[in-house]
Amino acid sequence: MQIYFNNSLTKNKEEFKPIKNNQVGLYTCGPTVYGYPHIGNFRAYLTWDLLKRFLVSQNFTVTHIMNLTDVGHLVSDDDFGEDKLEKAAKREGKNAWEIAEFFIQDFKNSLKDLNILEPTHFVRATETINEQIEFVKVLEEKGFLYKTSDGLYFDTSKIADYGKIANIQNIDLQAGARIELNSEKKNITDFAVWKFSPADQKRDMEWESPWGTGFPGWHLECSVMSRMYLGDTFDIHTGGIDHLAIHHPNEMAQSEAVTGKLQANYWLHNEFLKFEGGKMSKSAGTFVTIENLKEKNISPLAYRYFVLLTHYRKALNFSQDALEAAQNALVNLVKTIANFNDGGQVDSASLEKFYSVLADDLNTPQAVAVLQEVLASDLADQDKLATVYQMDEVLGLDLKNLKTQILSLSAEVNDLLTQREQARSNKDWSLSDVLRVRLQSLGVEVEDTAVGQKAMRIKI
Ligand code: AMP
Ligand code: ZN
Repeated sequence: MQIYFNNSLTKNKEEFKPIKNNQVGLYTCGPTVYGYPHIGNFRAYLTWDLLKRFLVSQNFTVTHIMNLTDVGHLVSDDDFGEDKLEKAAKREGKNAWEIAEFFIQDFKNSLKDLNILEPTHFVRATETINEQIEFVKVLEEKGFLYKTSDGLYFDTSKIADYGKIANIQNIDLQAGARIELNSEKKNITDFAVWKFSPADQKRDMEWESPWGTGFPGWHLECSVMSRMYLGDTFDIHTGGIDHLAIHHPNEMAQSEAVTGKLQANYWLHNEFLKFEGGKMSKSAGTFVTIENLKEKNISPLAYRYFVLLTHYRKALNFSQDALEAAQNALVNLVKTIANFNDGGQVDSASLEKFYSVLADDLNTPQAVAVLQEVLASDLADQDKLATVYQMDEVLGLDLKNLKTQILSLSAEVNDLLTQREQARSNKDWSLSDVLRVRLQSLGVEVEDTAVGQKAMRIKI
């Protein structure tokens, strides 16, 4: 099947052609592990999980690399302000290593909750310091760097088409440089590849280097890790749309400066999850975490379903009502398949249609619609189930488990059901109704059918 992606690099929808036949190198910019990510961040990881699952469904072997930024991501993208990790450590009375460890674990737990497959390799920035220093040495030898009082900077004017991905190559790089906080920068777009530790301060995380004690600039790790694991040029680079203006142009510039080659052929960006009209953002304080969702009885998988209902390149507005509606729709879906038996055949025409809408730049809302069409079709129930399960390998809603979950009833519930069965055979309708209400209060719905009561949980 031909696959098309909207490539941010060329601004075109292009047929996807991997460098090596059936193998795909995929890089996703990962989290800064200094705090709980918000569900906007997870929109990004959900999108790229879907991409990976889809490629696997098309028989590609995917090597997926994700960095964990455990050092050097400053409060501002412009190389100013405190290191987010060191700042969090001070606040919590811990050291930066402990903070990173805690939030890496938390991040992995959230991926599990959302049924996001872990990348082939998670790589911590602090694991690759030597490689990052070597990379900076090459940049220096090739004349791309200059030194200021606070670090080594990349001179973006030395790259002819700097910022081509963000359409910023035609700006006057020097304009505004004087009024910037860092008056030593030659061009406004220049960025640090190595920052010096402040003279009056011992950082938790700092390393010796040929240029002085310090720590790597944030953009560096992605250039270094992607090259280490995927080669000079790899297939797909992904991230949120906010990376289009600064982080990705900087990654590309460094990589091209060292290798003389394009870092990645396809650059895909997800749009924002929005909160009250603006970007959901940690620094603005407008954010919701996975934990907050759970507190409001929204399951992480309902959030996954909610995300799938909008194309990844369209902004998505957060609202409690919309999330609840998505959760209800997912519960209804699971209730429908709860009545179906295993052992059916996959309907290949439906599956083909499902794959073909995803092959068109990952049209997930259409893919969910195709799944719903299958449920409404006149296929045999068993075949519907087999087909839907196959589709779920890509959608990742974990339907098999959800089905088991809503059918599994506690001893207390089973006891009430037996009592109700008894009441019904005694034609004691009022007791039967009382018991139904008791069951409902335990989150269990009971339906009376020709073959007796059918009960399932109504919550996921
Ligand atoms: P960060 O930890 O800030 O680097 O963000 C992790 C990922 O989430 C990056 O790919 C960001 O582009 C993405 N991201 C950040 N905020 C949002 C948002 N509100 N909606 C969607 N993606 C986001
Ligand atoms: Zn990156």
